[in-house]
Amino acid sequence: MVSIDEFVNKVNQLKASIDLCAGIVAIPEDLQDVIELRKKLPKDIYMWVNAKEKEKTRYTDPQIKSLIHADPLFSRELQKYRVQYGCCHAGTNNVFIRANGDVFPCHINKNRLFNIYTNSRPALPFQCDKKFCDCYLAYSHRSDSGLDRYFGDGTPVRVPNKKQIEALFLDVDGTITDESGNVSEKAIEHISYLKDNIRVYLATSLPFHIAMKKCNRIKNFISGGVFANGGQIVDFGLNYRQIVSLGKQALEAVSDIPQIRIYQENGLVYKALAFKKLIPPHIKSDSRLKLTDERGLVSINSNEAGKLEGILKICLENGFHEDKVFVMGNSQNDLEVIRYFKNSAATIDSKCKALKEQAGYSLNIEHLAMFVTGTLGAARSTE
Ligand code: SF4
Repeated sequence: MVSIDEFVNKVNQLKASIDLCAGIVAIPEDLQDVIELRKKLPKDIYMWVNAKEKEKTRYTDPQIKSLIHADPLFSRELQKYRVQYGCCHAGTNNVFIRANGDVFPCHINKNRLFNIYTNSRPALPFQCDKKFCDCYLAYSHRSDSGLDRYFGDGTPVRVPNKKQIEALFLDVDGTITDESGNVSEKAIEHISYLKDNIRVYLATSLPFHIAMKKCNRIKNFISGGVFANGGQIVDFGLNYRQIVSLGKQALEAVSDIPQIRIYQENGLVYKALAFKKLIPPHIKSDSRLKLTDERGLVSINSNEAGKLEGILKICLENGFHEDKVFVMGNSQNDLEVIRYFKNSAATIDSKCKALKEQAGYSLNIEHLAMFVTGTLGAARSTE
């Protein structure tokens, strides 16, 4: 048997000329190989992890968590996809052929359709004798799998349909931070990797100075961002800085809110923060203001500010094509942005159901390089 290092060397050699993926079966008693292989494989190679057949209930929660770090789609291996009439396109778009020429809809459906040697008449429409489509080669044929978002035409072989990206906009809290609220080591490692080919920006409700303090370890990897829910728009490379401030009358209106906190730059108020329960109804309906609920605290901005407006401004200033922008977030506050851009991801642990439904992908930052590829390096090499 080849060693992990030999295998990884071969992958590195092959990836220079072909698109490929790698994969491994996770043995519940010994996941060390899975973790080691993922760590050693190039970050831009997707590694699928199959659950061990008949042992799918044996994985502990921490094991599932670490297997999802390795493969963002691993949880699908543990789901039970009940067979329903018309739920799959096996037998029409794809077939499984045994060595003797017998053709089946998929490898677990035992109803033979025909034989390629005897040219027997196809038995269509086919019957499915299974209760569940319980492995990738079956459930990948299902029309409700959503796997084509990740793999496109490469779905049967799990080779990602990589999106060409110029700019990446990342929410901060909950998207690139860990349980303690700090930017995670994985985020630091992967943003450092991504920044060579993709412009990386932040898109956060945090004011600029707070976000930059929190993101101190990645400050050299990012190109700017949209801060304070769009109240501050910054692009370091362009030396661009815009404050989208609350107007005088809007400011007078909010000044009555008890215990309000005001954020300002150069005398311009770009954001206010107040307790939700202390905000009077007339403020909630004031069309000059944009209110964003953040777990009992409400961020108050000018109605012209917003994460989406800020991202579009940076795209305009840089000439980024909207189809080459990727956005990633974890909460309701990211929903407008996730809905707008066709390349988007909700974090795997996001509690926001609508965000997960609208996002193109469910991924964490460490998975991004498997599904997107940057255009910056190519542009630089032709300069
Ligand atoms: S087991 Fe195979 S043929 Fe049956 S529904 Fe699932 S994918 Fe389709």
